[in-house]
Amino acid sequence: MAPKLKFQTPTGIHDILPEDQPYFQKIYSVVDEIASYYGFDRIDIPILEDAQLYEKGTGATTDIVEKQMYVLKTKGGDFLALRPEFTPGIARAHIQHGMIALPQPVKLYTTGPLFRYEHPQAGRYRQFHQVDFEVFGEQSPSIDAQIIQIFYAILSELKFSHLIIEVNSIGDYQCRPYYKKVLSGFFRSRQNSLCVDCRRRLKINPLRILDCKEEKCKRVRSQAPQIIDHLCEECKNHFKSLLEFLDEADIPYHLDPYLVRGLDYYTKTVFEVFSDKIAVPQPESGEENQEPVRNALAGGGRYDALVKLYGGKDTPASGAAAGVERIVSLMKQMGTVSLKVQQPKIFLAQLGDLAKKKSLKLMEEFRRANILVAESLGRDSLRSQLGRADKLHVEYTLILGQKEVLENSIVIRKMDTGEQATVSLDKAVEEVKRRLKK
Ligand code: AMP
Repeated sequence: MAPKLKFQTPTGIHDILPEDQPYFQKIYSVVDEIASYYGFDRIDIPILEDAQLYEKGTGATTDIVEKQMYVLKTKGGDFLALRPEFTPGIARAHIQHGMIALPQPVKLYTTGPLFRYEHPQAGRYRQFHQVDFEVFGEQSPSIDAQIIQIFYAILSELKFSHLIIEVNSIGDYQCRPYYKKVLSGFFRSRQNSLCVDCRRRLKINPLRILDCKEEKCKRVRSQAPQIIDHLCEECKNHFKSLLEFLDEADIPYHLDPYLVRGLDYYTKTVFEVFSDKIAVPQPESGEENQEPVRNALAGGGRYDALVKLYGGKDTPASGAAAGVERIVSLMKQMGTVSLKVQQPKIFLAQLGDLAKKKSLKLMEEFRRANILVAESLGRDSLRSQLGRADKLHVEYTLILGQKEVLENSIVIRKMDTGEQATVSLDKAVEEVKRRLKK
């Protein structure tokens, strides 16, 4: 067993090791491509924001803010939070940079790390990454449908099949207060059958009881009045046309009347995307004794009141985010995506100090010519260098020894036949290019 290190990553926080990088890169390249196709511009916002941004926007009594936010007091006495989600920061940037004056809608996307002090378990980390898309200045349900379509497209490109999209409408500031009253009345009469958390939720926000994962609360919930039956005309029409857009676009969805999502700012549309594949807990992440869980891959919705709440102009908005680690973990399990790691076709072997020195310059010449060359500059023996070239299955090995350096030449060895030719060192790149083309 490896000796225990004095320093380890904090609980729930992981390194992304070289072997996982191709998965992240693949996801980000698909995201960049789809974002550009749908006219989204990239924005990067800071990791630290004023803690009040989340208290006011995400909601002071939400789990994310109340239980999971990392807040620090700066030496100057300000309270800053490590961003637990992207939407509030992007809405803040939209106002701060006067994006309301830009042609509408303003479409923005980003990727990066987020932080939530979660109870670590399979698929739930304290530092994780999201890809996030937001649209400002468009109230049409077609934009909600486009956001769903984008996440469906990203996951389909990554070879996820059988995706399940759960959608619901949670109404707006006109119809939700009345529904909340009806719901409160219903749950109050069944308080004794609810878990402790839900009894507390009943006082703060009864909608969150619909989200509870406890079996006893789910049993009570199954009898609860549904918001769909209490939507105002405007919300009902919005939801109806969203579903029509999804039908038209051949995006499969389920209606989930209990989907509310735990954030305060949502209005009308909410959705989550699941895979029918279930992530198997990874022992290397300390998840070994855990049950497989069905976690959402992405989630989002409309938030028409957030920009105004932050002091901006009345700006309808809609957005969503997907969890990168969850996608990576299922990609690994499925093994269906081919991850292109560029393989070198050339190996450069050198013998002696002079040759080593020349090698650095030669490597740079090959880089400029866009030819990937592997090397083992630290090794001295030709045998061990050729052994490495063999392992890499390169087509050619270039051999630069003392004699070659003095004669300003280099040997090109074809690895499968052992055939060798000596060419001028100045022509090495050109000669390799010619041979690779054959
Ligand atoms: P949310 O911002 O909570 O709507 O989450 C959007 C997506 O981010 C989820 O569907 C997950 O894929 C991912 N996600 C959220 N929280 C975590 C976490 N603690 N660890 C890993 N992924 C997460």
